[in-house]
Amino acid sequence: MDYYSSQITKLIEELSKLPGIGTKSAQRLAFHIINMPAEQVQRLSDTIVNAKKQVRYCKECFTLTDQELCPICASQKRDHRTIMVVENPRDLAAYEKTGKYEGVYHVLHGAISPMLGIGPGEIKLKELMQRLQGDVDEVIIATNSSLEGETTAMYISKLIKPTGIRVTRIASGVPVGGDLEYIDEVTLLRALEGRVQL
Ligand code: ZN
Repeated sequence: MDYYSSQITKLIEELSKLPGIGTKSAQRLAFHIINMPAEQVQRLSDTIVNAKKQVRYCKECFTLTDQELCPICASQKRDHRTIMVVENPRDLAAYEKTGKYEGVYHVLHGAISPMLGIGPGEIKLKELMQRLQGDVDEVIIATNSSLEGETTAMYISKLIKPTGIRVTRIASGVPVGGDLEYIDEVTLLRALEGRVQL
């Protein structure tokens, strides 16, 4: 790619490291950026740097936020005794979009995968168990229906059962291997309403 100036080559290289961006898209984006007004480019790069600096984990549910507590954990209108366990912040967003779930969340940031060498210690499971020391009525496990998601659900339910807290799993209806974030709101709600006790 040295037929471009080295600065453009560098930009294309950096952009192509982003997920879902192949070399062709990276080139298209790079040329688009070069043609953008300087102040717009500045705003874009400032926004990226500031987001990276200020975004952190909510100290309660571990979703991404720029406050100590995310807006959901900080809200008095939410039912703090019902915790829905999801794999990542995108799954949380999918359930929030339905506007019907009134409990709070716990974001694991991954799922147990013996194949990829991801054990229970690599996800926010210890943190979930710590939360359960407080007043909790129900834990709804809403991990994906992939092998990893199911393994994680089983593992969590075994951990929680001895505490006497009600553990439920969202209903299948969510296609196998399906990522929650790609599923429509009606299906998500049906899965939530049809949840079964583990
Ligand atoms: Zn939170």
